[in-house]
Amino acid sequence: MNDYPYEFELERIKERIKESAATTIGLQLPEGLKRVATEIALELYHATGAEVIISGHSCYGACDIDEKLEREVDLLFHFGHTETFPFYKREPVVKGKNKRKLFFIELRSSVDVKPVVEKAAVEITGARIGLVTTVQHVHRLEEAKKVLARMGKDALVGKSRGLKYAGQVLGCEFSSARVPCDEIMFVGSGTFHPVGIALYTGKRVIAADPFSMQISIVEAEEQRKKRYLAIARTLDAKSFGIIMSTKSGQFNLDKAISVCRKADAKGLNAFLIAMDDITEVSLLGFKVDAYVNTACPRLAEDFDKLSVLSAEEFEVVLGERDWGDIF
Ligand code: SF4
Repeated sequence: MNDYPYEFELERIKERIKESAATTIGLQLPEGLKRVATEIALELYHATGAEVIISGHSCYGACDIDEKLEREVDLLFHFGHTETFPFYKREPVVKGKNKRKLFFIELRSSVDVKPVVEKAAVEITGARIGLVTTVQHVHRLEEAKKVLARMGKDALVGKSRGLKYAGQVLGCEFSSARVPCDEIMFVGSGTFHPVGIALYTGKRVIAADPFSMQISIVEAEEQRKKRYLAIARTLDAKSFGIIMSTKSGQFNLDKAISVCRKADAKGLNAFLIAMDDITEVSLLGFKVDAYVNTACPRLAEDFDKLSVLSAEEFEVVLGERDWGDIF
């Protein structure tokens, strides 16, 4: 575990297991950290005597709780995400006297973000910048702000409508990026968040990865053009698969049915297709012209063979919305 720059909070977990006299516990880790699961399991077993069950299912977000496992164990520890209001509309799983079974371990990073913020600051063109990050670095935002202030930049950390911390973003929740600023700095890894932020805000995003020290720039106009092309490719489509996720936090039957009815009303064929792990390979077998995604927005990024639109983009195809209204 020492090889990983994250706080696994094992002492707090052990205390909780002992306090609640749990005899079986579950562990759920994000994809990139599954390698450390056995080490954690061993340590928790030796310290508490509880049986430890590791979830082997995919785990991409707080939307993705392994509920089958949650039903079977006294406590489930879900690593890497925070409790998040949209996903708490799900029915909580309860068992016996252990009313609260699910605990989020946020995996705060120990990496210093100051060097990468300093490096990224030379890319800033305006005076005011919005500052956002994932939960792993959210405790470092004040330090990042100070670095930027020293360089003459006014950094704003916006409140999030649905997430636990100011400045926190998820791949499907960017409200903390909506602050009066010229551009946005995202502190974190990967392209998914910066692309989503650029689409959502219409602003240039400077992505600063504190692990690799890489800086990348995401231009909103380029991203919007890509989505416009995706819409244009489906204008002649006659049949659509409406993708639904059965993951508790992504399941949205009302939205999927509403998309289906709208397609029907325009004389198009639409089919509800539900699955847990949604992959391009599993969708390739269906005979439809294009897809509308009502699950995680990350899908559109991951697919390159299939045309996949969001529900809002589909409304442009149906002529119910102007392209310019989406973002
Ligand atoms: S971006 Fe996708 S995986 Fe992440 S929390 Fe949102 S729905 Fe879940």
